[in-house]
Amino acid sequence: MQKDYLVVGLGLAGLAFSSILEQNKRSFHIIDNNSNLSSRVIGGMYNPIILKRFSPAWKAHEMWQQSILTYQHLERKFAKTYFQPFKIFRILKSIEEQNNWSVASDKVVMKEYMTSQLVHEAISGIDAPYGFGELQNVGRVEGEQILQDYKKFALDSGLLSVEPFVYEEITFKDQLVYYKGQTYKHIVFCEGSYVTQNPYFNYLPMKVSKGEMLIVEIPDLEMTQAIKSSCFMVPLGNHLFIVGATYNWEDKTVDLTQVGQAELEEKLQSFLKLPYRILDYKAGIRPTVSDRRPLLGKHPQFPQLAILNGLGTRGIIYAPALAEILFNHLENDQTLDPDLHITRFSQEYSETNSNHSI
Ligand SMILES: Cc1cc2nc3c(=O)[nH]c(=O)nc-3n(C[C@H](O)[C@H](O)[C@H](O)COP(=O)(O)OP(=O)(O)OC[C@H]3O[C@@H](n4cnc5c(N)ncnc54)[C@H](O)[C@@H]3O)c2cc1C
Repeated sequence: MQKDYLVVGLGLAGLAFSSILEQNKRSFHIIDNNSNLSSRVIGGMYNPIILKRFSPAWKAHEMWQQSILTYQHLERKFAKTYFQPFKIFRILKSIEEQNNWSVASDKVVMKEYMTSQLVHEAISGIDAPYGFGELQNVGRVEGEQILQDYKKFALDSGLLSVEPFVYEEITFKDQLVYYKGQTYKHIVFCEGSYVTQNPYFNYLPMKVSKGEMLIVEIPDLEMTQAIKSSCFMVPLGNHLFIVGATYNWEDKTVDLTQVGQAELEEKLQSFLKLPYRILDYKAGIRPTVSDRRPLLGKHPQFPQLAILNGLGTRGIIYAPALAEILFNHLENDQTLDPDLHITRFSQEYSETNSNHSI
């Protein structure tokens, strides 16, 4: 029997694409090997503003407006609440930063998120002599919970096989693609950082980064906002907070490291003046691309194969919007933005990158 799609990978990207297929009544199957390198540790924060230099992240505002609809759809589907809105207080480090905040908060798009009035109220236990810049319309989506719920649904419905995908089993005939005796119109690869092992797409310049984070308990801190300083401190309720995350471009393992923990604790202690206890420690690999843009499109020689990857540090904001864009590209030949289309690499890289073997 022929199916429309085979989706490889059930992290945020695979979940978002499967959800779009379902909403558009397409037949599909998912294969995932359960080794989920990124989405399983996701902090879940949505924030379209880069808080280092007070500028909008690439297309994050418009993507987020589109992505919200998919999360709302999933909330209805599983009768759960996944949104946890909160404010982010960015600790300002100087008078210059106060001025920069005020200027940036007056700009189009930024206004949606950055409030122009600086916050000078003291939060007991948080060191912020220059006050805070306040971000609104941001928060957290419970990404790990959504994945868990979707995985259960997919298993119960026979839509998911938990096994490794075997690239050698792919064959092509008459515009279709075959995998282990089953026929599909498209295989969509949503493999996160594992794409480096995919012989069809490993020419794309992934520059993955390991992230580590802590879950801490701070019994004396009464706070519902997130704090951003040299790291994030995100409220989970009941005096629990996520502290993260590190960026390591060399270490490709998900092992927990003393160096990572020490870095996070040092950053936390630079603004937190209260006792805390580390309850848990997590690490994952972000699928980041050398130019920090997503990877979308069909394979240059085998258009039955497509990719949805490169979500980087903002998977929550980008995944559902990109899934819809890719779906419209595959189904309706809708043109892709050159900034996210993989053709920005294919020629150059297939000529120079000897890893590209099919
Ligand atoms: C510490 C940390 C904190 C983060 N915090 C945030 C945050 O607060 N907000 C935010 O928006 N983003 C955050 N991110 C980034 C976010 O996690 C990623 O952008 C997102 O999860 C990437 O999803 P993905 O589906 O592309 O990849 P993954 O989650 O890695 O999923 C890929 C899936 O494909 C499967 N797979 C791969 N190859 C095969 C194969 N051959 N056969 C079968 N299955 C296969 C894997 O098992 C996996 O399940 C964070 C990342 C880290 C590491």
